[in-house]
Amino acid sequence: MALRLHNTLARATEDFVPIAPPRVGLYCCGPTVYDYGHIGNFRTFVFADLVRRHLEFRGHAVNHVMNITDVEDKIIRRVRETGLPLREYTGRFTDAFLQDLDALGCHRPHHLPRATDHIDGMLRLIARLVERGIAYRTPDGSVYFSIEKYRGAERWPGCACRYGQLVNLNLDEQRVTERVASDEYDKDNVADFALWKARVPDDGDVFWESPWGQGRPGWHIECSAMSLALLGDGFDLHLGGEDLAFPHHEDEIAQSEGAGGLHGGLWNEHRPFVKYWLHAAHLLVEGKKMSKSLGNFHTLRDLLARGWTGREVRQLLLAAHYRDTFNFTMDGLDGARAALARIDECTGKLREAAGTTAATAPAPALVDAFGAALDDDFNISRGWAAVFDWVRDTNRAMAAGELDATRAAGELAAWERVDTVLGLGAKPQAEAPPEALALLDARAAAKKARDFARADAIRGELKAIGWAVEDTPKGPKLKKL
Ligand SMILES: [Zn+2]
Repeated sequence: MALRLHNTLARATEDFVPIAPPRVGLYCCGPTVYDYGHIGNFRTFVFADLVRRHLEFRGHAVNHVMNITDVEDKIIRRVRETGLPLREYTGRFTDAFLQDLDALGCHRPHHLPRATDHIDGMLRLIARLVERGIAYRTPDGSVYFSIEKYRGAERWPGCACRYGQLVNLNLDEQRVTERVASDEYDKDNVADFALWKARVPDDGDVFWESPWGQGRPGWHIECSAMSLALLGDGFDLHLGGEDLAFPHHEDEIAQSEGAGGLHGGLWNEHRPFVKYWLHAAHLLVEGKKMSKSLGNFHTLRDLLARGWTGREVRQLLLAAHYRDTFNFTMDGLDGARAALARIDECTGKLREAAGTTAATAPAPALVDAFGAALDDDFNISRGWAAVFDWVRDTNRAMAAGELDATRAAGELAAWERVDTVLGLGAKPQAEAPPEALALLDARAAAKKARDFARADAIRGELKAIGWAVEDTPKGPKLKKL
């Protein structure tokens, strides 16, 4: 069965047919680096990681692009408040973001373009839009996208010139002549949006030269320029949170198709700016929209500081289907910890049973059931059900003595194949502190001197600081209690 996915553009679930297989271009709107990422952001990024991993599992050669928005209204405000240069301020939070992605077990995207490295592409797109009469300069030196001109423009090959493709908008009933300078605005407000914002005193040093005067780009044009530059005119997949569908993604389509792309306007009716759009639903925390005033606002760092692991947070963020609103709770994290413990126990036993026997091939049952679940619009809930059915059956088979080393190795290989998509990895080994290691050495010395009373006493001392010692054929090992 082919991979099927729910395409926001088609408002339907469709077969996934890449433009130029086996290559797949995947763009996900990345973070605006003005602060640490919160778990609502990370739901989308972990989902993008799942999509990429499943495409790779199915043999596609994915080119994964995630932009870093490093110039935007909120960033400029913070730069002004802190007095730090833009690059220094955004560099700090870009690094933090990448560390967070690592902690969550996400593959780093192949390309992480920074908006400020793509100003030239943005200027080229804006110039094309002005040339075609779709964008206009205002007396202050800003440039706006005219929704009315776009809709009324003569048709260029392949350009739908239709505003409101992703969300159903009835433009004829709405005023479209207002202008919006802010990067974010209300869903009901259909208005001309800023492509280029003229420099104002509050911008300080944050400005670039342009044919329309000094200024900086609007947020929407950033994503058009970066995706077209790295994935070409017309690519396969564009992802983001559902709150980005309008206006951000709608504006990306209008700008990109209106300008005819960055590489000479290659649109045709079979090749729009983006073939498939996927949108991840909102995340609630303890049943409510996350907000600082409600005390349910969590950055990933908050959760790590409270003793949760990135692996546990990842498991929970991947617990539900991406198009379902997900309620993230502390109880859910307990559940993630328990779920991972069940998997780790099962795979640990399989590892022991397999010993040094290598698998000839992964056992097919789990791989097939899991793959089929993910082919169904990334139905991860069904995927987890396949995993836990397998854990139960495998535990039963091991308890009944039915798994010899060869079969155990095959099941373990099946889990490892599935985990290339889940990305949970092996259970991290707790690192023993120096005092525990010193006691382990002292115990070895006592045993060597045949002072078994002392060796036993040290075992007790280790236990008192939370560590057990296990004698294995490879020597003694510390295990966290
Ligand atoms: Zn974007």
